[in-house]
Amino acid sequence: MSLKLMVMLLLFKTSIGMSATILIDPGHGGDENGAISSVDGTKEKDLAMELALLIRNQLLTEHNVYLSRTLDQTLKLEQRAGTAQKIGADLFISVHMNSSESKFSNGFETFYLSNDLDEATKKVVRVENGEHSHPMQGVGELDSLTGEILAEIVVSENIPESKKLGEFVHSKLKSVLPQKYKIKDRGLKPGLFYVLAMTKVPGILLEAGFLSSKSDLSLMKNKNYLNDYATKVAEGVRDYLMSSKNKNQRLVR
Ligand SMILES: [Zn+2]
Repeated sequence: MSLKLMVMLLLFKTSIGMSATILIDPGHGGDENGAISSVDGTKEKDLAMELALLIRNQLLTEHNVYLSRTLDQTLKLEQRAGTAQKIGADLFISVHMNSSESKFSNGFETFYLSNDLDEATKKVVRVENGEHSHPMQGVGELDSLTGEILAEIVVSENIPESKKLGEFVHSKLKSVLPQKYKIKDRGLKPGLFYVLAMTKVPGILLEAGFLSSKSDLSLMKNKNYLNDYATKVAEGVRDYLMSSKNKNQRLVR
């Protein structure tokens, strides 16, 4: 490519502004079902894919969007993180559904990468990390991968950006879903998720509802809820990119 052409393309990209490269990660897949609904047997991996595709469709008009898996396939955490590096992702969004032994647990929540955890958060972290080869252990029993990730997190500049992305996305979600669908807002929370730490770009992990709750499950099997959820995620991403662009243009390539 000639230098002149490169400069022109660069200017064009700058003028259209907020176009970013985004990796959407449908949780689990293949041999890993994720959570299975105690209500009707719905598998997390299937619903996560459905929601991930809707989020992708919403973002596609403005951004370069990739999926970590397009089929029902088993992916290692390292592969998901590797894809983020390979495509030069600016943002990472991992899509999940919750589950609990209690049928009364319900609601949606959004996680951003952090090492500042309370007990409730640790539980979710264990569940989402649990099916991978390095389950979260109690403090004092950290395996070497956890140690590596913790070391990464301590110095990571992605933590404030991940939190900001989470704030933008979650505030959009909570502006609509609780009133319209009577679903509980469980909030924006810090979480130590391997997949967020390993991708090394600002990222969030979405939990769109509880498969173990009858009311949440029926919402998540409702196209309107999933569509609204996806739309709000896309709006949050757009606001985040706008604010980053106004600040320092770091996401504009
Ligand atoms: Zn999951």
